[in-house]
Amino acid sequence: MSTSLHSLTDHELDAELTRSRAEYDTLKARGLALDITRGKPAPEQLDLSAAMLSLPGDNDYVIDGIDCRNYGELPGLPSLRALFGEVLNIAPESLIAGGTSSLETMYDVLSFAWIHGTCDAGAPWSSAPVKFLCPVPGYDRHLAITESFGIELIAVPLVSDGPDVDAIRELVAGDPQIKGIWCVPMFSNPSGVTYSEQVTRDLLSMQTAAPDFRIFWDNAYAVHALVGDAPEVLDVLAIAAQMGNPERPFVFASTSKMTIAGGGVSFFAGSGENVAWYLGHLSQKRVGQDKVNQLRHVRFFVDVNGVRTHMRKHQQILAPKFELVTTILRREVGDSGIASWTDPRGGYFVNLEVLPGTAKRVVALAKDAGIALTPAGSAFPSGNDPRDSHIRLAPSLPSEAELQLAINGLCTCIRLSAAELVHRDRAADV
Ligand code: PMP
Repeated sequence: MSTSLHSLTDHELDAELTRSRAEYDTLKARGLALDITRGKPAPEQLDLSAAMLSLPGDNDYVIDGIDCRNYGELPGLPSLRALFGEVLNIAPESLIAGGTSSLETMYDVLSFAWIHGTCDAGAPWSSAPVKFLCPVPGYDRHLAITESFGIELIAVPLVSDGPDVDAIRELVAGDPQIKGIWCVPMFSNPSGVTYSEQVTRDLLSMQTAAPDFRIFWDNAYAVHALVGDAPEVLDVLAIAAQMGNPERPFVFASTSKMTIAGGGVSFFAGSGENVAWYLGHLSQKRVGQDKVNQLRHVRFFVDVNGVRTHMRKHQQILAPKFELVTTILRREVGDSGIASWTDPRGGYFVNLEVLPGTAKRVVALAKDAGIALTPAGSAFPSGNDPRDSHIRLAPSLPSEAELQLAINGLCTCIRLSAAELVHRDRAADV
């Protein structure tokens, strides 16, 4: 990457390094304590669902002829499955409403395949080495789940319209140990990329050496637009069936970033066979779901328009924060060639690229100055970003005033680490 620093004379570069260090020392002396590590909703966003906490209210516990206080109805409340079926473009009979965390559902699904195998192939996944593909940068908690099973992760590039399908096609066609891929198809964590219909079709139709290959299709941000309305959600189950691979997608979603983070409702969807397989194993774990929580969500949202109106309120809180981040980055490091970033249309993150070899240094400098960032490399398998250039920014939680301080401080760290790098490189050249 060529930067404006490269055009400086040695003397000017020395002066820039001294200036950046002084700027950083001033930042450090402020004793900040700011956190932009995780995509947590801000308190004002959580307040949007405060009314839900008093629902369903006295004497409201029967819906669809089901007493929500009792055991049973493992697939979840039909009313909620119908409502979110519309939101997620999934037929209600293919959509299971579950507990409070979709990550837990993903962990369960992987465990079931690990212990028992999938519905279409007998052998438990644990009976032979398993590999998974992960488009990078990816969601660190996805990577962590698979890594905790001892699954080898193979990074594949994520480009502007989804993962690099040509690279994936070649890998999955030749290696039966590749059993799955992690995908966040809409406003990906952390890149903000939304998969095109063509990429989606290619993933659902490609030839795989593993007969039980699965796409872990985590539609966590299906309705989380920052600008305008979210794109239409593709009916992946129908496409998969058309392509002759009905069992390929395992679909996940949750209301964590709509209602209560970690306390909303999670969803699982798949073909009839996959749903029967999932429920069969789930029934060994529990007798029913928390249907009172599900009823609360039905009463709160009422219908799909309720969800859309609610998500617009989230957007109104979040969009100015994202705008603030990109405005400061543009102003502070925009013309220097030492950083580039995404301007996402949805989701919860800004992807920041700094000079190769400096991401860890930037995060360490920021930490010492009281600005906590997601560890560099966490969006890559084994926490190892081969270029050491990627940093995930999560602007949702802090107030705008805190965010302003954090991003300005971050820019100071980016400038210092870039000046150090160019200075070091030049010293090595002589
Ligand atoms: N998937 C993705 C892609 C996420 O970014 C997150 C974090 N919000 C989750 C899943 C976690 O979802 P849940 O709270 O439903 O476990």
